[in-house]
Amino acid sequence: MPGISLSFSSTSMAESSIANAAALELEKSPLAHLQDRKLGIALVGLGGYSSDQLAPALQETKLCELKGIVTGSPDKASNWKKKYSLQDKNIYNYENFDSIKDNPDIDIIYVVLPNSMHAEYTIRAAKAGKHVICEKPMAINVKEAEEMIAACEQADRLLSIGYRLHFEPHNLAMTQYREARTFGELSKVYAMDGMKIEPGVWRLNKQLAGGGPLMDVGIYCVQAAIYTTGQLPIAVTAKEGVKTDKEKFREVEESLKWTMEFPHGVLAECTTSYAEEMNVLRAEASKGWFALEPAYEYKGINGKTSQGKIEMPQVNQQALQMDDFAKCVLTKTKSKVPGEMGLRDLKILMAIYESARSGEKVSIAQSWLTK
Ligand code: NAD
Repeated sequence: MPGISLSFSSTSMAESSIANAAALELEKSPLAHLQDRKLGIALVGLGGYSSDQLAPALQETKLCELKGIVTGSPDKASNWKKKYSLQDKNIYNYENFDSIKDNPDIDIIYVVLPNSMHAEYTIRAAKAGKHVICEKPMAINVKEAEEMIAACEQADRLLSIGYRLHFEPHNLAMTQYREARTFGELSKVYAMDGMKIEPGVWRLNKQLAGGGPLMDVGIYCVQAAIYTTGQLPIAVTAKEGVKTDKEKFREVEESLKWTMEFPHGVLAECTTSYAEEMNVLRAEASKGWFALEPAYEYKGINGKTSQGKIEMPQVNQQALQMDDFAKCVLTKTKSKVPGEMGLRDLKILMAIYESARSGEKVSIAQSWLTK
């Protein structure tokens, strides 16, 4: 298995880890000749994810750095300005955001707003001539996602989705085990992602979030099922869970279970919830199993197989993800987590909702998913 080292004994932790390999690759990279400065990233929306994950990660990135912010709150602007030594000219609000087009310090705009605002800000960013990273879920419907891709294409800008787990060694190992048939032929995947949510937040507002836990954390199960099986689903069957708190979950589902059917009879059984903590990815194969728990967290991903522990380093997923995109921009290469992947996932999420609504199995044409 080139580029990845899997070992089962806790004493034989591989130094040639994905993270180290990635760091080495960046250090000796010919990119150094392409680049006289780190690419500037502006974060749009300074909520929990920007504050607690992305801005700290941008202190560790090698090819890009935090250069600007876009916020509706003057208080946040002044705190961030101090904390990250930002220049006044790189601080924007939602009204003057479009003038960012004239700012050569900003190469990449990272949209970290409530889901329903992703399309508008991605399209405005592309029109301002900037490359874009947009958080998951890419948008709240398929039409918006298609418009975002078209806007970036039209502006000749790259678009990537914040799918950080594609840069996380344990999650990458799930793909590698299946590809190498280390545990034989894959037969079944289980993916569960849930958390307890407090009342009154935008995630419970259908207009802002587009849906409930499926849009927010269930999307990780859809992603995981695809990278673990290496295939696209041909059908989904879904059932919404009973609402135990009808007031809190007035607008969106509280929980949802669904099955994804893959070619050759492989199934993925998935669950998501806003009322229960769960964080599991498990694959069963003809000669054993391999699993992660927690699987989708920012830190502390833990893996086991039927042969023992998965020894992989803990990495800063967001730093690797953003550096990878910066590398794509510098080398004019499509991201491995492009807008098209975000669109594909939205189509699957919509099929899951359709099945939950109708009570019927919903078939998915592969040609439609990749269109
Ligand atoms: P948050 O509630 O902590 O922050 C949202 C930000 O948007 C706040 O700064 C808020 O002021 C701003 N905002 C602007 N207009 C708003 C409006 N009308 N209503 C509410 N807020 C408004 O949310 P978050 O957790 O930072 O999530 C932001 C995005 O990032 C979401 O799309 C989410 O799915 C995504 N996210 C991704 C990950 C990941 O692991 N990739 C993790 C967390 C969040």
